Amino acid sequence: MKRYVIIGNGTAGASAVEQIRKRDQQGSIKVFTCEKYPYYYRPRLPEYISGDSNLDKFTLHPLSKYEEWNVELHLGEPVTAIDPEKKEVTSRRKLLPKNQKNFPMMSSCFQQVQTVIALR
Ligand SMILES: Cc1cc2nc3c(=O)[nH]c(=O)nc-3n(C[C@H](O)[C@H](O)[C@H](O)COP(=O)(O)OP(=O)(O)OC[C@H]3O[C@@H](n4cnc5c(N)ncnc54)[C@H](O)[C@@H]3O)c2cc1C
Repeated sequence: MKRYVIIGNGTAGASAVEQIRKRDQQGSIKVFTCEKYPYYYRPRLPEYISGDSNLDKFTLHPLSKYEEWNVELHLGEPVTAIDPEKKEVTSRRKLLPKNQKNFPMMSSCFQQVQTVIALR
């Protein structure tokens, strides 16, 4: 059985999951992302931030889809190191601060920089 580790769950990561599953239904897939939400449409972020849309409307796949695909989705868990020789990745589970509620799409990778708001 093949083991896949995907770092990032944006357009590239989410597409990789779909394409792998089309070709390999057995392999284990782990996805790591800084964000605490499954993949969402980046171009629709302004609608969400302005309150014209809600999370359900611009999330591509609900969490249940990842379960259906048997994909281990690690939300809010940045990868901190990759060891290609050992084929290992190290991740850090982050506790998201309460004030992130105001900007739920702010990547936890950037939290230490208070003046940066990442739109992605
Ligand atoms: C408002 C807006 C409008 C846009 N409109 C368009 C458009 O009309 N047409 C167009 O072509 N493009 C548009 N874009 C750009 C498009 O959304 C991006 O090009 C696209 O999202 C890039 O996808 P990606 O998967 O490469 O990266 P991203 O979407 O940036 O995803 C990167 C992923 O990697 C994760 N990550 C990063 N570091 C780590 C780590 N150390 N460990 C774990 N995970 C990590 C992040 O959490 C994230 O999930 C728009 C973007 C925005 C914000």
